[in-house]
Amino acid sequence: MIYIPKGTKDVLPQDSYKWQYVEGMAREVSALFNIKEIRTPVFEHTELFQRGVGDTTDIVTKEMYTFKDKGDRSITLKPEGTAGAARSFIENGMANGVLPTKMYYIIPAFRYERPQAGRLREFHQFGVEVYGAAAPQTDAETILTADTLLKKLGLQVQLYINSIGCKTCRAAYNKALKEFFAPHLDKLCGDCKTRFEKNPLRLLDCKEASCKEINQAAPKILEYLCEDCHAHFEEVKACLDLAGVDYVIDPRIVRGLDYYTRTVFEFVSTSIGAQGTVCAGGRYDGLIEELGGKPTPAVGFAAGIERLLIVMEQTGVEIPEPATPTVYIAGMDKDCRKKAFELAAQLRKNGVIAEIDHMDRSVKAQFKYADKIGAKYVAVIGGNELAEGKANVKCMATGESEPVAFADMCMYFQK
Ligand code: ATP
Ligand code: MG
Repeated sequence: MIYIPKGTKDVLPQDSYKWQYVEGMAREVSALFNIKEIRTPVFEHTELFQRGVGDTTDIVTKEMYTFKDKGDRSITLKPEGTAGAARSFIENGMANGVLPTKMYYIIPAFRYERPQAGRLREFHQFGVEVYGAAAPQTDAETILTADTLLKKLGLQVQLYINSIGCKTCRAAYNKALKEFFAPHLDKLCGDCKTRFEKNPLRLLDCKEASCKEINQAAPKILEYLCEDCHAHFEEVKACLDLAGVDYVIDPRIVRGLDYYTRTVFEFVSTSIGAQGTVCAGGRYDGLIEELGGKPTPAVGFAAGIERLLIVMEQTGVEIPEPATPTVYIAGMDKDCRKKAFELAAQLRKNGVIAEIDHMDRSVKAQFKYADKIGAKYVAVIGGNELAEGKANVKCMATGESEPVAFADMCMYFQK
C-alpha cells in the first residue's frame, strides 16, 4: 500500500464542489474587477524564487521543494504565485502593452513546512497581481478585490493594514531596529540572529514565542515613514473608507516575503485561532526590477484556499450542493438496458443529467442506487414498457408514477 505524501491532501469527489464554488467565486470577483487569469508553470528555475521571494525569507531558506532535473538544472516547485507572474510579465513584454496589467491565478503551491491544520506542504492559492500602477487607489482596489471575495464567501474576517515604507524610510527604520534588538541578541532564536545581520525587518515576522515577546516593544515602522510613504498610506486609508472597508492598523505586519514596499495587509479570520490568516498581500514596487524588468510598481495578494474552506466550514457557511441526476433510467433485462443507454444519451444531448445501470443490477437494486445518488425521477423500462415504447416514470419525492413515451422523455425532463 502506498500512502499520500505527508502534508498533502486529496480532494474527494464528494467534496470537490466546495473547491469549485470558492474558485468560481474567485473568477467571478476577478471578472468584476476586470482581472484576467494568468497560468504559469508549476516549476521554475530556482533562481527566480531566490531573487523574487528573497534570500532571507523562511520560504527560500527552508521551505522550497528544490531538485536537480535530468539536465542538471536547479528546479523549484513554486512556493507562491507572484514570482512566476512577474517573470511572465517581464518575459512577455507586458510592460509595453496596456497598463496596468491586472492578473489573477489559482495555483497549487509547495512549501516544506510542519503540517498542521491549515498548514500543508501542497496548498492552493488564489492570487491577484496588478502591475504598472503606483497610485494608492490601486492598493485600495486590490484590498477591495480580496474584501469583496471574502464577503461573497460569507467569511467573517478582520483586515489589518500597515505600511513598511520604501528604501529611504526602511534604512532609518532598520537602523532603529538594530539599535533596539542589539541588547537582546543573545535571547533571540538562531534565525533571528541571522535576520539581525541580513534583514532586521524580518525579526518582526518571527513565530518563536520568545522572539515575539521581545518584538512587542520594538520601534514602529509607521513612525519612520518618509513624507511620500506617509502620504501614500493616508490615501490608501481614505480610499478604503470611501469603499466602506473596515480596517485596523497593525504596525507589526511585515509580511513573509522580501520584496514588499509600502502597503502590507492581512485578512484574519475572527473565528479560527491558529492559521487564521486567510489572505495576505501588499505592494512590492521593487520586484519587477529585481527580476530584470523595467522599474514597475506592483501590488497584489494571495488567499489560501484550504484556509478559506476551513473557516467556511467552521462558521457554517452553506455551499450550494451540485445538482443530482434528474433521472435514473432502470432497465429490467439486457434489451431494456440498451434502450436505457440510448435514452440517457439523448437526454444528455438535451442537457438533462441522466444516469443508468453499469453493474447489471436488479431493478430493486437499481432503485436503491438511484436513491443513493439523489436521482429526482426513476424511469423504469420492463418488457411491456419496451414493447409499448414508454417508460414508467416515478417521482422520488412524491412517490407518484406515470407512463411517459420514449419520444416525449426529453420534453418531460427539460421542464
Ligand atoms: P504564514 O504566516 O501563515 O506562514 P505566509 O506569510 O507564509 O503565511 P503567504 O506567503 O503570504 O503566507 O501566503 C498567502 C496565504 O497563503 C496565507 O495567508 C495563507 O492563507 C496561505 N498559506 C501560506 N502557507 C500555507 C500553507 N503551508 N498551507 C496552507 N495555506 C498556506
Ligand atoms: Mg509561511
